[in-house]
Amino acid sequence: MLNVRRQPDIITKLDQFSASVEYYGYMYLEKLEIQGFKSFAKNTTLVFNRELTTIVGPNGSGKSNIADAVRWVLGEQSAKTLRGKKSDDVIFAGSDKKGRLGFAQVDLYLNNQDNLLNLDYDQIIVSRKIDRNGESEYLLNGSKVRLLDVQLLLAQANFGQKTYSVIGQGMIDSILTSSAAERKEFFDEATGVKQFQIKKDQAISKLDHAKENLAQSEQILAELEPRLKSLQRQVNKLERRESLEQELKNLQNDYYSFLLSNLNLDLNKKNIAFEAAKNKEI
Ligand code: ATP
Repeated sequence: MLNVRRQPDIITKLDQFSASVEYYGYMYLEKLEIQGFKSFAKNTTLVFNRELTTIVGPNGSGKSNIADAVRWVLGEQSAKTLRGKKSDDVIFAGSDKKGRLGFAQVDLYLNNQDNLLNLDYDQIIVSRKIDRNGESEYLLNGSKVRLLDVQLLLAQANFGQKTYSVIGQGMIDSILTSSAAERKEFFDEATGVKQFQIKKDQAISKLDHAKENLAQSEQILAELEPRLKSLQRQVNKLERRESLEQELKNLQNDYYSFLLSNLNLDLNKKNIAFEAAKNKEI
């Protein structure tokens, strides 16, 4: 924190300046709990002073391991960035005094009283665990989540494992000597574009998935089309048969009605002749 002895003539200027600056609030690292991670065999809690915290120690005492723990809990996937070869290299490998451990866990406590992260909690605890079977999980305030959930949430506050939130040894050098594409990636994270890029990447992958589904559906359609034609022909025949049957039924009705009326006429005539012959005999 910079302490400025305010001169009367600059007081008004400073007040005007602060009134014109929009206040977005703060989110800051409150505490880090490390258990079984790299050289931290014992449970270790680091409480951070809001302004500045300095960690000093001799070479190899584990200072960079703390920065690694922060990167790791925020979702770092690269074993190389974490100065290891395999993912479980982060688990305490044992020392003269203590045997190796079966799992590592880091809990990172963020103060969210200014609600910079869109969650109804004043304190956000991001946790990551890994065991020697390679089973790994992320937790947000104790609830299991996906890495993507952690990344999206932290991206809201321009905070993430790749941002300038964690600047390690040699990082400034590597930024200065990095390619234009790598430098763009760095500035994208710093300016908060990352969360939209994550969403864009997700949307593109969904779109690719939808395109694959469409291609599969088109293939199925192409396979079904020839069968569809033969089925359509069968349907047409069936419809023609139904209409012919109906026509035949109508014609048969007409024909038998005609025969019946002729028979009735004949019968009537024969009845009249019979009655006449009977009357003659009497
Ligand atoms: P320097 O000032 O030289 O950069 P440092 O204080 O940053 O050193 P680190 O690099 O953080 O030290 O720590 C290195 C130590 O961590 C080494 O002694 C190494 O053996 C130990 N270490 C790293 N990974 C593990 C692990 N999985 N299990 C046990 N110890 C580990």
